[in-house]
Amino acid sequence: MEILPGIHRVECPIGPRYVALYLVVGDDYTLLLDTGFDQSIRETLIPYMNAHSLSLEKVRYAINTHSDYDHTGGNKAVKELMPNALICCGERDRDMIVDLSKMVDDRYNEFSKEHGFAESQEAVDFIGTVAFETSVDIGFAGNERIDLGNRCVQILHTPGHSWGHLSILDETTGAMMIGDAVLGQSVLLATGEHAFPPTYRFVEAYRSTIRMIKGLHPAEILTSHYPRYVGQDGIDFLDISLSYTDLVESVTLETLTKSAKPISLLEIIEISHDRLGVWPDPAYKYLVYPVLGALEVLVSYGKVVKSTSSTGIALYK
Ligand SMILES: [Zn+2]
Repeated sequence: MEILPGIHRVECPIGPRYVALYLVVGDDYTLLLDTGFDQSIRETLIPYMNAHSLSLEKVRYAINTHSDYDHTGGNKAVKELMPNALICCGERDRDMIVDLSKMVDDRYNEFSKEHGFAESQEAVDFIGTVAFETSVDIGFAGNERIDLGNRCVQILHTPGHSWGHLSILDETTGAMMIGDAVLGQSVLLATGEHAFPPTYRFVEAYRSTIRMIKGLHPAEILTSHYPRYVGQDGIDFLDISLSYTDLVESVTLETLTKSAKPISLLEIIEISHDRLGVWPDPAYKYLVYPVLGALEVLVSYGKVVKSTSSTGIALYK
């Protein structure tokens, strides 16, 4: 639906969740933020655009907020169906966006060797059925400004969930479209129930991103997997997200302080997950992202020491 003048939010189903794609329409060009799954473009976005008389030819910038397949999987469909679209992303996420096998190895299976946590083959196979890569035309660093025709948008570098994560500030409405740059205390199902933990990964960058977004005083915050947050609701979402990072850090430190011996990332999560959220098994295991992030911060402060077990698993004390 057109939620603000010239800004359309199109929720595309991804299993029990949704990914919201955004269209920002200027007089000359349209910007598409995120491409979802392949079928998000073919079965949801294109029918929506046709129904609302939005031109496919006008789509010039198709920007992936970050290197996750539910945000990039429709890139090939965009190239096929929107003849003037340039695929854009944060430069630091480009490698993974142009090569889905690299995304699987470096992002989803980052934890396999040192921490013994890997995606199932079934999950990896699924990615190959919904996401199709293409080359990326433009890599943004952040702080670029695009004129869409009587409407300018700013590109902002908002790392934390990934290193190259981008957000968009629409100067006309003051709305910020932030993808997964900020993730609250839980990622939600379409019903509003809790799906899995907030998978931010680089904690200090994530905290800086939240503060930076707050400092820009956005009129509203538009995410990929949460409802619209207008005015104070947006500020509350930012504050809750920031304080959650402190909770993870303090619970992680307390868990290690109470343990008699060095323990692994997965052991920390087994002991502490019910203090960090209410996700069912195995969803809570995705705490590997924020808890490893917290461990890295604690190691950098000298509060926690990392070692390696005889089987090559990282241990913390
Ligand atoms: Zn996402």
